[in-house]
Amino acid sequence: MKGILFDIGEGTVHDGPGLRITVFLKGCPLRCRWCHSPEGQRSEPERLRFPVGERLAGTVWEAEELADYLNGMKALLRSGGVTFSGGEPLQQPGFLSAVLDRLNGLHTILETSGVGETEAFLRLAAKVDFVHFGLKILHPLRAGEWTGQSSLSALKNLRMLDECGETPYCFRMPLLARVTDTEENLRGLMRLSGTLRHLKRIDFLPSNPLAGAKYAACGRIFDPGFDVRAKGKVPSWFRPAVPWRILK
Ligand code: SF4
Repeated sequence: MKGILFDIGEGTVHDGPGLRITVFLKGCPLRCRWCHSPEGQRSEPERLRFPVGERLAGTVWEAEELADYLNGMKALLRSGGVTFSGGEPLQQPGFLSAVLDRLNGLHTILETSGVGETEAFLRLAAKVDFVHFGLKILHPLRAGEWTGQSSLSALKNLRMLDECGETPYCFRMPLLARVTDTEENLRGLMRLSGTLRHLKRIDFLPSNPLAGAKYAACGRIFDPGFDVRAKGKVPSWFRPAVPWRILK
């Protein structure tokens, strides 16, 4: 079973507990206007052209080859594990499933927007130790304006994940000024957190002022429609049903 990766991050510390390897699977159905990995959106390999040279984003791996590589790093990953991110990992469910089946005692996290086929999502979630559920904008229409897709299918998959109760999860939400930190969105997040039984935590991710750095290399224009340098804020009235934090 083959899959396409656009990067492998070794020694990452922001994608879960301990020292980790983050595997970035290529292809994503969303088009978030703040996305800092535009090279992860298209499914096929593409050449990035920088002023100082070129780089191919998109390398084909056999599931067995990737699992062997990750298993070989087990000693280094004792305190952490492997995080499968993207792009959107649910775009390559068969490949990811085959990799997970071959891992030997490594702690695993699935980092997903939740947009994908429900059965595949639940099957993959059941094979990992923890899920980072990438919530962005709850209102279906506004989600469409900012990410290219309504939030409805992600919210449906979230509900299914919670009802299954097999895998603990947290929310990961980018904290973007006047985009995701609006009163409507944060009050919606508070309400939602009170209806879920297996949600462990809410992590806010700070805005990335360098989000547009790779667009020109992909032959695209970065036009987010908001100030990526402005810091999103969490108001004092924000009291969800689970602990929350802002990651550095
Ligand atoms: S879900 Fe992630 S990879 Fe996909 S477009 Fe949004 S930010 Fe980019």
